[in-house]
Amino acid sequence: MIPYGRQEIIQSDIDAVVEVLQSDFLTQGPKVPLFEQTVANKVGAKHAIAVNSATSALHIACMALGLGQADWLWTTPITFVASANCGLYCGAQVDFVDIDPITYNLCPKALEAKLIAAEREGKLPKILVVVHLCGQPCDMHAIHGLSQRYGFKIIEDASHAIGGKYQGEYIGNCRYSDITVFSFHPVKIITTAEGGMALTNDDQLAENMNLYRSHGVTRDQNRMTHEPDGPWYYQQVELGYNYRMTELQAALGISQTERLDTFVALRHDLAKRYDGLLKELPVKTPWQHPGSYSGLHLYVIRLQLDKIGKTHREVFECLRGQGIGVNLHYIPVHTQPYYQKMGFMQGDFPIAERYYSEALSLPMYHGLTDVQQDTVVGCLRKVLS
Ligand SMILES: *Cc1c(COP(=O)(O)O)cnc(C)c1O
Repeated sequence: MIPYGRQEIIQSDIDAVVEVLQSDFLTQGPKVPLFEQTVANKVGAKHAIAVNSATSALHIACMALGLGQADWLWTTPITFVASANCGLYCGAQVDFVDIDPITYNLCPKALEAKLIAAEREGKLPKILVVVHLCGQPCDMHAIHGLSQRYGFKIIEDASHAIGGKYQGEYIGNCRYSDITVFSFHPVKIITTAEGGMALTNDDQLAENMNLYRSHGVTRDQNRMTHEPDGPWYYQQVELGYNYRMTELQAALGISQTERLDTFVALRHDLAKRYDGLLKELPVKTPWQHPGSYSGLHLYVIRLQLDKIGKTHREVFECLRGQGIGVNLHYIPVHTQPYYQKMGFMQGDFPIAERYYSEALSLPMYHGLTDVQQDTVVGCLRKVLS
């Protein structure tokens, strides 16, 4: 099976992890801060907090921004469930904004219309989680403008987008957001096995996320209610979690970050090749914003079903049957049973649902060979003819 995504591990990655195994610290040592510094420097953010997944990063991001029971979090329906679940973890209510039919990202026009209505009803969101789907940056300039007008905070779920650029700057610099989150799951652009990171330019948000990552416990005297009892002393000042990243993961992350630009450039080569190979087929290839540089985590095509004598599902099954590990990113979150129980219904976000009925993720990863790519396209051509 040619998978839709997978990691690339080379000898220097292995050596980096083995070195940690033979060192004094398997966790809470020097590698995590070094990885944080490496990524923060790379993307141009002031602070980075490494955690055990992007899901954890989204959770501590929402906590640090003060999301609570009376609040609303909005996001896009075309994302992994974690982008919405982080709101539910904090007891907040979640709602969605439909996507743009060209970019597949949260639509700024739909956002504005929904904000106008929400302002009238006194139900403005506290946090908007935008997702750079497939690695393509959202229209952050427009969304940031709306955040100024309506007073919401912005989290960029950049799980697909590390190494990509918006207006010539690396995604993650938080120029138009409060916090940016990366994922290091093995299908993503760089990996630490499991892992994630939250970046911010705000000292207070960084300090709070740092607390929430590790039990809400501090050794900083300024955060304590009284003088330390002695040198052993720490205080729990918030309710936090154990979301820490290990030293092994951080060492792997440092090693992988060295190849980040190469990984993304290679994904662009693969995408260009797909664009050419798919030209004559009844599919819509992904639109790329001319002023942005996508991280290209995913290469999603849309089937022109009116020109194909098969259903979406039949095309998917035929390809899987031939060893092509196609996938579907994503099932609209509002159609998940857990969200339907909260009152969301089929038909609530029609552009997202239409997208879901036609989308197909083709294999896209560093290490996919031209021969494999030709096989993917050959199988697709046969299945669609
Ligand atoms: C992968 C992913 C996540 C979750 O990442 P983990 O590191 O697996 O927790 C969240 N949001 C999006 C958009 C993702 O693709």
